[in-house]
Amino acid sequence: MVKLGLIGYPLQHSHSPQLHEAALQETGLAGAYRLYPVPALPEGEEQLAALLDQVRRDEIQGLNVTIPHKETVLARLDETTGAAAAIGAVNTIWAEEGRLHGDNTDAPGFLDDLRRFLGETAVPSPALILGAGGSARAVAYALAGEGGEVILASRRFAQADTLVAQLRDVVSGSLRAVPFTPEMLASLSDTIGLLVNATPVGMTPHEDVSPWPEGASLSPETAVYDLVYNPPTTRLMEQARAAGCRASNGLGMLAAQAALAFTRWTGYEVDFHQFI
Ligand code: NAP
Repeated sequence: MVKLGLIGYPLQHSHSPQLHEAALQETGLAGAYRLYPVPALPEGEEQLAALLDQVRRDEIQGLNVTIPHKETVLARLDETTGAAAAIGAVNTIWAEEGRLHGDNTDAPGFLDDLRRFLGETAVPSPALILGAGGSARAVAYALAGEGGEVILASRRFAQADTLVAQLRDVVSGSLRAVPFTPEMLASLSDTIGLLVNATPVGMTPHEDVSPWPEGASLSPETAVYDLVYNPPTTRLMEQARAAGCRASNGLGMLAAQAALAFTRWTGYEVDFHQFI
């Protein structure tokens, strides 16, 4: 019996149980994927510790982690992968010989789906990432790790600037921060090969807004990847397609990061894109 699950808060809208249970069914493994709503610390302290102990004792074989625990859980693990340490966040936990391990599959999951979307292995550069939160960190690490030039635009400039300083020494590509202003974004629009939305702007119920300024141009050569997947066609994707750009939502990244976690826990490689 493979026991898997997700810790985070709140969890009502998670797609993870549906994805992982479909994968369990496909592989023929007996098991279940449960939601473990754990409030932010300090309130969820005991619950979090108890769940981690269950993983350590192999009573739970794998846990995904989401907001608000992705960063705080890092310090409670015995080993973290280079990606998790560099990104400063863990989304996948498992145990080996009683030691807790953590990885971040968002970065390789993003790259995997970006390549699938573009139909090529080369990563477009320069890339402009909107936002400097948790997912922007993973995307910046992934793209700059491939040697690309990455520009981070954040409305709190200091947040992007700190991220650049933290990642600069661990990636081969270049990174720089710019302020998130309509003028700045418009001035970059003709030069970028890839635009990534790593803000929640455009998510249901605010699907009529976009992080890209209305009226600002986009070059048809720019590929646009929106991490938001609800609604499936975001306002940003509409703007991009109207400008002649290729555009993708983030559902494929969700599938790809889940597939990588599933392989880590079970050893099975399953194409999760078939479940979205
Ligand atoms: P986060 O850590 O809260 O970061 C959000 C970032 O967006 C922050 O830099 C924030 O800036 C910025 N932001 C928020 N509202 C903004 C606005 N109105 N204008 C400009 N910037 C704004 O969130 P996250 O975990 O990175 O997630 C971001 C989005 O990606 C969410 O919609 C999430 O669902 C999605 N996501 C998708 C996947 C996937 O697999 N497809 C994976 C992870 C995340 P401030 O700090 O100034 O507010």
